[in-house]
Amino acid sequence: MKLRSPESFWLLKNGILKSYPSLKENIVCDIAVIGSGITGALISHTLHNAGYKTIVIDKRDVAAGSTSATTSMLQYEIDTPLTDLADMIGEMPAVECYKAGIRSIEILDKLVKSEKLKCGFELKKSLQVAHSKKAEAKLKEEFELRVKHGFNVEWLTSREIRKRYKMISFAGILSEEGASIDAFQFAHELLDNNHRKGMPVFDHTIIKKIDYNKENVVIHTDLGNMVICRKVIFCSGFETLYMFRKKYAEFVSTFACVSEQHINHYNELKDVLIWDTDNPYIYMRTTDDKRLLVGGEDVKFKYGGFTEKIKDEKANKLIRKIKNHFPNINFTEDYNWSGAFGLTKDGLPYIGKHPDFRNAIFVLALGGNGITFSVQGMELVLKILAGEADPLLQYYRFDR
Ligand SMILES: Cc1cc2nc3c(=O)[nH]c(=O)nc-3n(C[C@H](O)[C@H](O)[C@H](O)COP(=O)(O)OP(=O)(O)OC[C@H]3O[C@@H](n4cnc5c(N)ncnc54)[C@H](O)[C@@H]3O)c2cc1C
Repeated sequence: MKLRSPESFWLLKNGILKSYPSLKENIVCDIAVIGSGITGALISHTLHNAGYKTIVIDKRDVAAGSTSATTSMLQYEIDTPLTDLADMIGEMPAVECYKAGIRSIEILDKLVKSEKLKCGFELKKSLQVAHSKKAEAKLKEEFELRVKHGFNVEWLTSREIRKRYKMISFAGILSEEGASIDAFQFAHELLDNNHRKGMPVFDHTIIKKIDYNKENVVIHTDLGNMVICRKVIFCSGFETLYMFRKKYAEFVSTFACVSEQHINHYNELKDVLIWDTDNPYIYMRTTDDKRLLVGGEDVKFKYGGFTEKIKDEKANKLIRKIKNHFPNINFTEDYNWSGAFGLTKDGLPYIGKHPDFRNAIFVLALGGNGITFSVQGMELVLKILAGEADPLLQYYRFDR
């Protein structure tokens, strides 16, 4: 599957930061993590540091899947508003999912500091603006529900938004908790730290077949080698959805573009992530090298949907929308790119076991804000391995 167009910004900005050997021998280990994107980097870090003999396998270069295309806005607010999620799964479970998102941002902040990762991580606020007067009323309900449950939010009128951010828009919710990161660099640095501490990583390793046995899992590679492990953990991103008979998510194509450096609204926008309630939506954030990154314009995924023509059209649309919000902005596009992601009905991920795959655990960080789910996977995987329960495992299970 083509996960992204070739010229994703983070890959161009950073280049291939580190290459690993492909697997050329038989290995016995406790856990094989399939996938070296941000999810695989986080999960393998947790397992290796918890004392499991862990290896990481990827068929591509490290972190070269969706993690190299992501716009990496770290938000506790997922694709489904809290009010809608409460209708779908109940008010308290929905609040728990949202609060888990806040904890994820705190965990990432601590991890970046403790592991000394250079990855442009910045704590930011998150501003969601209504795209119309009607949407404003719905957003106000969302605000009230969040206030009821103690979320750190403020209602900003359009006049206040204009004063603080020089942005023309309807009213919105300002949340205290948010962040942005270079997820590609983060994944590379974290994997490298653990590799130096003895965790084997193999890139360009193609898996031909997997035997899910009663006592173990045997992974066969195309070069004729085997990995024999107690558990396999799939952190293999959106492509993993093709493993299942049931359709668990819809694929969406999404588009992004980034300005040249030294954008003129940098000072007003540097501490905030902005997104709107429109469908398709638009979102924006600054980068640590003083650009404005804009994304959105999602459409149903179709093969061949990442052509230059479509990308350019979508980038032009995104820039036009930005100019509606900031009429004096000097947005000159430097790069545009596109990628796919999987959307579930409730906006929640799939984390847990699946009845068709013995001794396997899945951490599928689906959705437009998947990264906070990857972080939640760290604690949840340890609990699954220890046979412990967690309410989130109920909300994220496959048969929900
Ligand atoms: C344009 C775009 C913008 C986005 N913006 C945001 C955002 O602002 N905030 C946010 O939180 N999320 C965002 N997302 C989603 C986010 O990118 C993903 O949630 C995240 O990158 C998923 O990471 P991952 O490690 O699970 O998957 P990936 O990064 O895709 O990693 C999976 C890895 O598994 C490997 N793999 C797959 N199958 C196999 C196999 N059979 N054998 C071996 N290896 C295999 C792949 O090669 C890949 O390297 C965005 C996504 C896109 C495309």
